[in-house]
Amino acid sequence: MATNRTFTMIKPDAVENGHIGGILNMIAEGGFKIVSLKLTQLTLADAKAFYAVHATRPFYGELVEFMSRGPIVAAILEKENAIEDFRTLIGATNPADAVEGTIRKKYATSIGENAVHGSDSDANAAVEGAFHFAGREQF
Ligand code: UDP
Ligand code: MG
Repeated sequence: MATNRTFTMIKPDAVENGHIGGILNMIAEGGFKIVSLKLTQLTLADAKAFYAVHATRPFYGELVEFMSRGPIVAAILEKENAIEDFRTLIGATNPADAVEGTIRKKYATSIGENAVHGSDSDANAAVEGAFHFAGREQF
């Protein structure tokens, strides 16, 4: 059975462009409850650790520079079938492929600067949520 939590970040591009409110509104309209929420910034070392799974990919250096260049919003979200439903809400990695009505279609500017993160599995959601939030910060 699918568990019901996912982890997201509103990435530096979307924060810089003033889209925190718009994205949080789409998340709420999508039926997700906020379990944890904060404005924070990743150090370069934090970004390297968070995206360690992509360390061998050609875009890794650019990705970790981007993700640490300014503040992000980190959040844990709850909903039935959260992982899959949130991936549907955010849309394809490349905004050129994202369908109408998705967060990335509306707010992403490129495949790299694509506005939001969404966990890809229950196990990763738990690890990524714990990376940013202590147990007492999860409601
Ligand atoms: N990324 C990139 N170039 C690519 C693929 C991915 O810059 O060709 C970045 C992009 O910011 C993406 C992140 O690396 O969101 C993680 O990639 P992943 O394949 O996990 O995509 P996601 O799960 O975010 O859709
Ligand atoms: Mg991913």
